[in-house]
Amino acid sequence: MTRVLVVGADAAGMSAAHQALRTARKNGRELSVTVLERGHHTSYSACGIPYWMAGDVDDPGDLVARSAHEHLASGLDLRMGTEVVAVDTAARTATVANGEVFAYDELVVATGAPAVLPDWALRPDGTAYAGVGTVKTLDDGGAWLERFEEAGPGAHVVVVGAGYVGVEVAEAALRRGLGVTVLTRTRGMGMLEDEMSDLVNQALVDAGVELVLGAEVTGLELDGDRVTGVRWDGGTRDADLVVVSVGVRPATDFLRGTDVPLTEGGALRPDPHGRVADGVWAAGDCCEVRRRIDDAWVFRPLGTHANKHGRALGDSLAGGSLSFEGMTDTSITRFAAGGQYVEIARTGLSRKDAEAAGLDPVVLVTEGSTASGYMPEADPVAIWVMADRATRRLLGVQLVGGRGAGKRVDAAAAVLWHGGTVDDLAWMDLAYAPPFATAWDVLQVAARRVAERI
Ligand SMILES: Cc1cc2nc3c(=O)[nH]c(=O)nc-3n(C[C@H](O)[C@H](O)[C@H](O)COP(=O)(O)OP(=O)(O)OC[C@H]3O[C@@H](n4cnc5c(N)ncnc54)[C@H](O)[C@@H]3O)c2cc1C
Repeated sequence: MTRVLVVGADAAGMSAAHQALRTARKNGRELSVTVLERGHHTSYSACGIPYWMAGDVDDPGDLVARSAHEHLASGLDLRMGTEVVAVDTAARTATVANGEVFAYDELVVATGAPAVLPDWALRPDGTAYAGVGTVKTLDDGGAWLERFEEAGPGAHVVVVGAGYVGVEVAEAALRRGLGVTVLTRTRGMGMLEDEMSDLVNQALVDAGVELVLGAEVTGLELDGDRVTGVRWDGGTRDADLVVVSVGVRPATDFLRGTDVPLTEGGALRPDPHGRVADGVWAAGDCCEVRRRIDDAWVFRPLGTHANKHGRALGDSLAGGSLSFEGMTDTSITRFAAGGQYVEIARTGLSRKDAEAAGLDPVVLVTEGSTASGYMPEADPVAIWVMADRATRRLLGVQLVGGRGAGKRVDAAAAVLWHGGTVDDLAWMDLAYAPPFATAWDVLQVAARRVAERI
């Protein structure tokens, strides 16, 4: 009997655990799976939390794909409230906070990446000041709903950080009737090129958000231990609540001092089957992922990778051959509040990535429509396309636009996945009917224009 010990019971860990059981059953292998989870939720959609905060989802139970009880019923030995604090890879044991020791044959690290709280957000005892927090777990979501309720409409929220989570939380707070300031060190949605980021910034401002770009937060204004304002290098803002969304960091401290290699930022770099060292496997937000286009390791803590890599890992661990063959850096969100609606999506390299990879990028922004102009569905969309001059290879696509704009990114991601050219994107067979597209889809018009430019 092979003893598998999984640390972390969310997307990556539970995908791995269940797939390992399925593959073992199929192959007639004897396998026991124990899962240790320090929190008290399993298999929940963190991605849904901003929409719960906004009011789109009433019951947080709807965000839970499988409860602890369901996992137990399907044959996993799941221990909740159990935090791994040390691992001995030579003895193949993991020690938990109460001192109990678990022996394993194969260890799966799926511990994710908790949200970062900078020093200025913390009391001397290391906890956040009242009214200050992150948006990461179901408990965070519940706490924010209570704080929104308590503060009441007209209260003011400062959101620090304007990545996906910052923008989604700004939407939620506006839709709850709160005033919103967004402070960001760089620009809004920094993963976009400047010209695309500008469109998102404009939508935020048009919705009534006070947006401050290039702001480095230096501290909080406090009344006792309750926040009353935020100071940054260029000003101050009164605030009833402060949402900190400045990034996440891999939860791998318990591996320090073992033979498991970690990057400087504490991330793991698993192979396509999930292996990181002899008897140690990993997947999800605690890992970097391989970007296929330039073969670079990048930190992209996304559920889409955690689920896929976890499944491949679980299968491989139980004797299967599934593998996670990297990604093309695709992501999507939307901002919908204050009379504004924009879908925001990207795939592939940024211009900076392409130049760093020694490529010669040709870039063009095209404006068009999500549906035939005579249809009520037609919304404007801007598309940024980048290709390599020498090989005509598609390198990246970004979109900002109305309903139906965002998921167009998937066609571009498919071309990138297969290493296709900008001509492939321009001429492939995409669906057309007036409510959905123009006869030449705007994505293909944008690709064709770049092809012509080359
Ligand atoms: C607000 C928000 C919105 C998001 N939206 C999207 C989206 O739209 N699309 C997308 O693709 N992704 C999105 N994500 C990211 C996505 O939620 C994560 O990528 C995904 O949850 C990662 O799964 P994971 O299993 O690797 O890590 P986690 O979900 O973080 O799970 C790790 C688990 O390990 C446990 N753990 C950690 N350390 C220990 C320890 N020492 N001992 C025991 N247990 C431990 C933790 O308690 C946790 O339950 C969003 C995230 C947030 C916060």
